[in-house]
Amino acid sequence: MVVLVTGGSGQLGQALQALVPNYKEIQFHFANSSEADVTSKESLEAIFNRVNPDFCINAAAYTAVDKAESEADKAHLINVVGVKNLAEVCKEHNAALIHISTDFVFDGNKTTPYTEEDETNPQGVYGLTKRQGEQEIEKILEAHYIVRTSWLYSEYGNNFMKTMIRLGNERDALSVVNDQTGTPTNANDLADAVLQIIASGKQHYGIYHYSNEGVATWYDFAKKIFENNNIKIDLQPIVTKQYPTPAKRPIYSVMDKSKIKQAFGIEVPNWDARVK
Ligand code: NDP
Repeated sequence: MVVLVTGGSGQLGQALQALVPNYKEIQFHFANSSEADVTSKESLEAIFNRVNPDFCINAAAYTAVDKAESEADKAHLINVVGVKNLAEVCKEHNAALIHISTDFVFDGNKTTPYTEEDETNPQGVYGLTKRQGEQEIEKILEAHYIVRTSWLYSEYGNNFMKTMIRLGNERDALSVVNDQTGTPTNANDLADAVLQIIASGKQHYGIYHYSNEGVATWYDFAKKIFENNNIKIDLQPIVTKQYPTPAKRPIYSVMDKSKIKQAFGIEVPNWDARVK
């Protein structure tokens, strides 16, 4: 089985690379943005012709949530046009697509975990483009898995955990929002869940939610990071209004993981057991 990973040098891409030894039945090809530029159909055709994948994992995306508010065209090009290109090329080459999406497709007005059937209503440009990317796949390609995740962190790339560790070593005090509720997700766990879908051999196509289990605020997440890394800092909870950002974020984005657990027998660890 041949698996092509686009966005292979991003955070999730690196977490997937680390799992290569655990999936000996899979022949992986990791492509960065110069080898496989999702915004160029020619670039995708060339790599699909060369690698001939059975599966493509799309770990490529425009992920700068706040910057997207002033770079809507760029976010659209990568998250919508790029995903459409990939879905079309997958269809032409008979490959299945595993695409990663986000909890930011929801408005956050619920108070119980979001299921795959819940209505989407993105609050910002990033969430909107990610939702439109999902819709392109649903229109074009039957053989797809769309895996929505949230609050991704790991030892790779730039993420909240790394920012907290850096700030924790630079400052004596820090304020973190305590009124946005969701679930941190270790990118290594997401990577393994994605590969379990492929290894299962099951063709249960559709949308799935995958985050770690449990519920947290960004303040809870920061507190756990500081505790685990033995960083002494005066950590203060604040509300979103005190930390305005260009993009509006869902106030609640916990996701229900029942569907992915049942369909593929995937076990989901609790978030606080996974923070290093
Ligand atoms: P990163 O930002 O770490 O990686 C994204 C990758 O996409 C980069 O390696 C980048 O390559 C690549 N990329 C950008 N433009 C293109 C292009 N035109 N063609 C090919 N590749 C391109 O993202 P993450 O690994 O953190 O995110 C993985 C997925 O998870 C994304 O779909 C994201 O939307 C989703 N997600 C992420 C969350 C998070 O908190 N990070 C939360 C919820 C969902 P280069 O650096 O060379 O430009």
